[in-house]
Amino acid sequence: MSLSPDVLVIGGGATGAGTARDLAMRGLDVTLIDRGGLCSGTSGRSHGLLHSGARYAEADPDGAAECLEENRILRRIAGACVGETGGLFVGLAADDEDYFEEKYAACTEVGIPAERMDPDVARELVPELAEDTERAFRVPDGVVYPSRLVAANALAAEEHGADVHPHAPAESVTVEGGSITAVDVGGEVDGTIRPEYVVNAAGAWAGEVASMARLDVDMQPTRGVMVSVEYDGLGPVLNRCRDPDDGDIVVPHDSEAVLGTTSVPVNDPDDYEQARWEIETSIEECAAMLPPVADAPVVREWWGVRPLYAPDETERGGRGISRGFFRLDHAPDGVDNAVSVVGGKLTTYRLMAEDTADLVCDRLGVDAECRTAERTLPAAADPDRLDEAVAAFDGQGPTDADVVETAD
Ligand SMILES: Cc1cc2nc3c(=O)[nH]c(=O)nc-3n(C[C@H](O)[C@H](O)[C@H](O)COP(=O)(O)OP(=O)(O)OC[C@H]3O[C@@H](n4cnc5c(N)ncnc54)[C@H](O)[C@@H]3O)c2cc1C
Repeated sequence: MSLSPDVLVIGGGATGAGTARDLAMRGLDVTLIDRGGLCSGTSGRSHGLLHSGARYAEADPDGAAECLEENRILRRIAGACVGETGGLFVGLAADDEDYFEEKYAACTEVGIPAERMDPDVARELVPELAEDTERAFRVPDGVVYPSRLVAANALAAEEHGADVHPHAPAESVTVEGGSITAVDVGGEVDGTIRPEYVVNAAGAWAGEVASMARLDVDMQPTRGVMVSVEYDGLGPVLNRCRDPDDGDIVVPHDSEAVLGTTSVPVNDPDDYEQARWEIETSIEECAAMLPPVADAPVVREWWGVRPLYAPDETERGGRGISRGFFRLDHAPDGVDNAVSVVGGKLTTYRLMAEDTADLVCDRLGVDAECRTAERTLPAAADPDRLDEAVAAFDGQGPTDADVVETAD
């Protein structure tokens, strides 16, 4: 392995693996490390909705447009890392009709192909949809299998010469003369890496990693729970069409439905309460859209922490805020060869990576275009090979544990 790469990427979730892929494809010598298996942070513990942008259309049209564009790109390049299920927004009797109309109009405005449908037609798609469904429209939501997606990005990075190291935590950082000169890495690397440039893609842990270089990245993570229940052949994603709230989304897998989620601030992304009420609320609220899930056997429950950047949270306040991302160049903070990339969504990881890689290339004087939107991910058409890569990177998260087949 190279102990003096051009770029060290800290954090092997979707953002870090995507950034490693992008930079390696532009010809840089890249090392990617994660303290656990790849995808062991938030990426592998998300709800797994490939957003069409509709959820954000009225509150954050720019963020919605980013989701739409990235959704289209991933459906083109990511093969078996995504599922093209489509999605429905449903308005129940208790929900505000004006909000439904506002959401529909906003989707049209953003360019999201939204197709109104009669509740009876919606029930042909989802026969067990709630009796009191009064309104519905269809959008191009989908499903993303994050373990496969992260593994495919890491494979691509490796194919372009990158070193990828799971179980290799960044433990300390040396800053000399306004630059990071060394990063001590434990675990399976157990050595000192002297990169030209450092990308901090540590998600909810980005504040901790930044503090090793005496930098401030003020994170305000929020936790959420997902509950996967037995449910055969749901078809589309179901979204409750109301002001964003707990238990608004049901994500279909072949023989499961993933119910969620909640949003509660936490102080420590490694040590937070997992409250029973969040599980119960998620089941109850999702059952308002799809009644049989109330009594369906629970297959697994898991929690994740959103890597939200605190200044954004404070400015916008609470739920319904943009899940937009932040690229924090640390040169103005006195460290001229580091960037942190935080916030965002799984759906927009490639765009986050592109934006970050643009800055790194600019700083290192590399003149190379981003090609990640055009190139198909390795093994995209070969689920077995993808699943072997998931196992090789120790990258299995709970979100797609029923989909990915790793030999145990
Ligand atoms: C409950 C919930 C539901 C969500 N649902 C969706 C959804 O349906 N659709 C969607 O698009 N988005 C969703 N998101 C958001 C999305 O999951 C995240 O924004 C995204 O996965 C973040 O990816 P990341 O790579 O930035 O962070 P992570 O995936 O957290 O990656 C950061 C990595 O850094 C590593 N790390 C930390 N410290 C160190 C260190 N010292 N050294 C080395 N490595 C380190 C961690 O182990 C981790 O793997 C959801 C989030 C939550 C919490």
